[in-house]
Amino acid sequence: MRRHLPGLGIELERLEAGPVVVTCIPDMANVAWPAKAIFAGLTRADLEAAKERSPAGTVDPAGDTVALSFNCYVVETPDFVALIDGGIGDGKERPHRLAWHRRETKFLDTLAALGIAPENVDIVINTHLHADHVGWNTRREGETWRPTFPNARYVVSEIELAYWTAVHEAEPQGYTLHGAFADSVLPIVRSVGFEAVPSDAQVAPGLSLRPAPGHSPGMVVVSLETAEGEVLFLADAIHHPLQLGDDGIVCNFCEDPAMARTTRLALLNEAAAGNTILAPYHFPAPVFGRLKAEAATFRFMPLEIEATGQPASNDAR
Ligand SMILES: [Zn+2]
Repeated sequence: MRRHLPGLGIELERLEAGPVVVTCIPDMANVAWPAKAIFAGLTRADLEAAKERSPAGTVDPAGDTVALSFNCYVVETPDFVALIDGGIGDGKERPHRLAWHRRETKFLDTLAALGIAPENVDIVINTHLHADHVGWNTRREGETWRPTFPNARYVVSEIELAYWTAVHEAEPQGYTLHGAFADSVLPIVRSVGFEAVPSDAQVAPGLSLRPAPGHSPGMVVVSLETAEGEVLFLADAIHHPLQLGDDGIVCNFCEDPAMARTTRLALLNEAAAGNTILAPYHFPAPVFGRLKAEAATFRFMPLEIEATGQPASNDAR
C-alpha cells in the first residue's frame, strides 16, 4: 500500500496490519553510492554478478555504484507512535560525508502530512548510534541542538551507548561518529536522557528489541507484532539486496565483520523460515518484503503494492 501526500508530491510505502500502520519515510532515497565506499572488496565482475540477482536498478556495474536509501519507519498503533531510526537529519556539519552535510529536507513536513507533530512521537529507537541513524534525534535551535521529539522516550541499547560514550571520551577533538555523537547523541543525554536498555528489551506492547551485534557492538533490530505477523526492522544487519546472494559481502563499516555476518545469516534464516515481514534500513524501494530461501541464498519478495495511479517517487527529500 502506498500513501500519496499531494502537498509534498511524494508517495510513501505503508504497511497496514489491523490497527497498526507502519510508514517508511526515507530520509534519503535511492542514492547512487560508490560501491567501493560501502563494499570495498567488490570488483566489476562481482557487481555484474550481483546485478543479475538483485532488484532492477539497485546495482550499476558501469557506474560502479549501488543504490542506497536511509529508511526511517514510523509505527502507529492504538498505544503509541514510534520512530525507528533517526536518519541523517538536517543542518548537521558532516564535511567528510558531503551527502549528509548541512541538509535541508522535508522530513518533518512529511511527518506532519501524516498527522504526526514532533510532540506526538512517544518513542524514538536508535538501533545503533552511527551518524545516519541518529540525525533526527535533534534539531538546531540557534546555536544549540534540542530534542526533535520533546515528549519521546529515546531508547538505545545500553551496550551501544556505553561503547560510543567511551570512544567519545577517549577522543579529545570530539569528532566521534562524524560529529553525530556531539550533535545528535549528547544533547539527548544532557536533556531528556536516553532510556538505555538491554538489547532484548520490550519497549512497548508488541514492540521489542533483539540483539544484532557486529556492525556496531550494541546494535539491535526491532520486532513488531502485528495481525499480519512479525515485522522486523533490520537496521544495518544488511545494507543492500546484493548481500542476500553472497553471504561473504560485508560492508566497510562493520566493527566486527565476522560477527556481523553471523548475525545477518541468523536473522535471514529465521526470517525466511518464519515468513517475517522485513523492513530494511538501507534497501531502496520497495522496502517491505519477505524472504524466500534459495539454496544458500535468499530472494527478497516485495509485498504486493496497491497502485494509486499517482507517479511513484523514490525521493522523499
Ligand atoms: Zn546505516
